[in-house]
Amino acid sequence: MQLYNKLSAKERSELIDEAGKNRLTLSFYQYAKIGNPQVFRDHLFITWNALDVLGRIYVAHEGINGQLSLPADRFNEFKTHLDSISFLEGIRLNIAIEQDNKSFLKLKVKVRDKIVADGLNDDTFDVTNKGIHLGAEQFNAFIEDENTVLVDMRNHYESEIGHFKNAVTPDVDTFRDSLDIIEADLKDHKEDKNLVMYCTGGIRCEKASAYFKHKGFKNVYQLEGGIIEYTRQVKEKNLENKFLGQNFVFDDRRVERISDDVVANCHQCGQPFDVHTNCANEACHLLFIQCDTCKEKMENCCSTACMEINRLPYEEQKALRKGKGNSNDIFKKGRADHLPFKKDLRNIFETLNINKE
Ligand SMILES: [Zn+2]
Ligand SMILES: [Zn+2]
Repeated sequence: MQLYNKLSAKERSELIDEAGKNRLTLSFYQYAKIGNPQVFRDHLFITWNALDVLGRIYVAHEGINGQLSLPADRFNEFKTHLDSISFLEGIRLNIAIEQDNKSFLKLKVKVRDKIVADGLNDDTFDVTNKGIHLGAEQFNAFIEDENTVLVDMRNHYESEIGHFKNAVTPDVDTFRDSLDIIEADLKDHKEDKNLVMYCTGGIRCEKASAYFKHKGFKNVYQLEGGIIEYTRQVKEKNLENKFLGQNFVFDDRRVERISDDVVANCHQCGQPFDVHTNCANEACHLLFIQCDTCKEKMENCCSTACMEINRLPYEEQKALRKGKGNSNDIFKKGRADHLPFKKDLRNIFETLNINKE
């Protein structure tokens, strides 16, 4: 699936021609202060419904986050409407031709507390006062600057299989956790270091950069549009790619290989490998990295215990599960103690060569 951003008028009309009678899918987000989300929501619903827009859009006091589809021949009307809203004028859109015309079946515009569930319940800072956006070229230059602390804002299982050169990859399960760790580790460097952040599509860094500015960091930057947009710019402008390995994405592909580097290893035998799998025992379902050899030997399970359960007839497995919750909840992805080669991730102190007492 090819993504298009910031289309020129010509590129846009070519895309629409190519789509013919097909639908386009697009996504966008913007942090902005919305005084009355309910009124704004109703306005969007009425206007977009008339344009045959389908999708899922969240509106909150803090902004808007939408993923939607629409007929290609209504795109110009839609864009004109977006441009009529001050904080959406000229916004970067990720656009693709819809593959099966079934991405969305309804138009849902919902008022939410947040546009992304980020676990951050701090209303004292201004989410629109964000860091400085970097394009791929500028970002490459910052990566090489020794005054830069480059932080991966994604979760550990995402950064483990792919990350930027020189990046710190906090060993966290949630976005919220990473904010505290970064702030504590960099508390003496709020003014002298460049804090540069990146994530998958850019939205997490929008919030994080505003948060760190609020906490007194002076030089805060983020990769605009995240790894997805970076990769597109690198290809388009023929820049040096500094992303190593695979990018975790949120569509059916799950991952996209960006460079041939293998930065992770099989959690069971340690050999270089970077493809996640889920434990075949349905009661476990642990997300972990398993090479093909181990997959065969372990019958796609994370442990011998899971292997034994997985061999039982389905009815017996079901009986075993009765009354028990899933043994590995989502926050323990790849963290089971029986996986000897789960890597320790790089923390910030290591990178700055500061001794932690
Ligand atoms: Zn292995
Ligand atoms: Zn298992």
